[in-house]
Amino acid sequence: MSTIPHITLNNGVRIPQLGFGVFQVPDAETTPAVASALDAGYRSIDTAAIYGNEKGVGAALADSGIAREDLFVTTKLWNADQGYDATLKAFDESLAKLGLDHVDLYLIHWPTPARDLYLDTWRALERLAADGRIRAAGVSNFQPDHLRRLLDHSSLVPAVNQIELHPGLQQRELRALHGELGIATEAWSPLAQGALLGEDAIVSVAAAHGRSPAQVVLRWHLQLGNVVIPKSVTPSRIRENLDVFDFTLSDDEMTAIGALDRGLRTGPDPDTLN
Ligand code: NDP
Repeated sequence: MSTIPHITLNNGVRIPQLGFGVFQVPDAETTPAVASALDAGYRSIDTAAIYGNEKGVGAALADSGIAREDLFVTTKLWNADQGYDATLKAFDESLAKLGLDHVDLYLIHWPTPARDLYLDTWRALERLAADGRIRAAGVSNFQPDHLRRLLDHSSLVPAVNQIELHPGLQQRELRALHGELGIATEAWSPLAQGALLGEDAIVSVAAAHGRSPAQVVLRWHLQLGNVVIPKSVTPSRIRENLDVFDFTLSDDEMTAIGALDRGLRTGPDPDTLN
């Protein structure tokens, strides 16, 4: 079983650099998928209230027998629940579904700028952090302007910004800003949901290393310092995606993949999703 490296967040909490995502996995299928991931060696699981599978995640965690302190559980506050009181209530509901007494990372799922509630929502996350109910507070899909505005109103710097990030959407500006502010970059849809796995640049690097295209893309992320949370419901792929710690891409290979950047969004634009 491979050893997954950790990244130390700005509050000292350590997050596994590679975790397991469960977006679009129905609740009943989530339990066997997460069980398969835990069995393969994953210890970090990324869910969200809107995925409707926090119960399925919680069941797999409980069945695993793995000590709570060896697990890293992330969930996210849905847009409709933004606002101070609504956030605290939604958090309680997520925790109950997960069957946990705290989560390791809680994220504001989207900024939804037109609602203009993310500052109030962030105050609720500050409270949850102060109460020890979340080990780290973070955001997701925040653009540079949203991060700067948040920090104009709060001294709590998000530990993480989870953003769409893959070779087709490399997010150079946000990654640089995260570096300046001390925010860890977490990549969602790290495999672009499979859309780039046939790209010549990726296929040829994969062939050179005797690896799969997905492994090469994950390796590219890891070498950039990103936290990644690939999703799969296929046990062989679940194992394959974890088997990425015993080879290294050269600078030329990193550059060749870097050339695939083209503003490719597989999901919504955070400036307009409300
Ligand atoms: P990914 O980029 O992880 O791609 C998942 C897709 O790729 C699935 O169709 C999967 O198929 C396939 N796949 C996985 N491994 C391989 C492999 N080794 N070879 C070939 N195909 C493979 O997409 P997601 O959108 O699921 O993103 C990952 C996670 O990020 C989500 O599950 C979620 O936790 C998070 N996320 C967060 C968002 C946010 O707004 N904060 C938005 C979207 C995602 P199969 O399952 O059939 O094996």
